Amino acid sequence: MANPATGPAAEAPAGRKRQLRVAHLTDIHVQPELEAARGLEACFAHVQAPGESVPDGPPDLVITGGDTVMDAMDADEARTRLQWDLWRRAKADHCSLDVRSVMGNHDVWGWGKSKARTTGDEPLYGKRFACEQFGRALPYESFDRGGWHIVLLDSTFPHAESYIGRLDDGQFDWLTRDLDAVPATTPVLIVSHIPILSVFPLAAATAREEPGGRPTFQVSGQLVHTDHARIQDLFVKHPNVKACISGHLHVVEQVDYAGVRYLCNGAVSAGWWRGQHRGTDFGYSVVDLFDDGTVEARYVPYGWTARG
Ligand SMILES: [Zn+2]
Repeated sequence: MANPATGPAAEAPAGRKRQLRVAHLTDIHVQPELEAARGLEACFAHVQAPGESVPDGPPDLVITGGDTVMDAMDADEARTRLQWDLWRRAKADHCSLDVRSVMGNHDVWGWGKSKARTTGDEPLYGKRFACEQFGRALPYESFDRGGWHIVLLDSTFPHAESYIGRLDDGQFDWLTRDLDAVPATTPVLIVSHIPILSVFPLAAATAREEPGGRPTFQVSGQLVHTDHARIQDLFVKHPNVKACISGHLHVVEQVDYAGVRYLCNGAVSAGWWRGQHRGTDFGYSVVDLFDDGTVEARYVPYGWTARG
């Protein structure tokens, strides 16, 4: 039976022209175990194989969506470096496309101080380790490509040796200025690791009863951006923000809300390399950006199955 999350790309309305094709590889979680690096290499090969994944043309750009490594937050420095080395080698040897990277919670080094045995004084503590791997100074950035403005956000905000989904105030101010500087006629794609908006946490939640017996859903602040409201207010001022793509949940989901498409795009590692996760296969998304500001995505399994 066909996976409803895959299938052919939507028919293009007459007259629109594709300006940019992005391969969105999120939640790679590379690690020495379960042949994960070989899986990542297979994914890179699939992305670039002529006619294989994308019969009507290869991607122009790869964006990795965060959680590049299995986990650095609770890992010591040696284990963290080992995982990043696997990522760097796979990218250097198996991907000739331009790669831009979003930071995920598992890419942050050592916030779980008791498990990671960090003090906080290490030169690469926190987001600096991943920034060094990504070759940039800040955990967020934006750039223009193919007539679109693309913003890569940093969703991971510290909370009690762990994290929640939120932009810090400095980044929010930067985003405000960044969007102000984009011409109103230029469409904007936002990429975050944690979804800015998602319905999945409701599907995954169990309703509990409040005092008085009213069933109520509880949604963890680790699953979606807890600052959705102020980001949404910003989007209202910038109707050229057309789509937000994310990962983190390891499921495929499309939510259209208030003129913005929110696409959660599965996971290269599916269920952390152990098998499918809630029916989501090992895969990546091909995201097409059109000149009329529309965005289409389809999820592409790359043929990996769990090892050992
Ligand atoms: Zn994550």
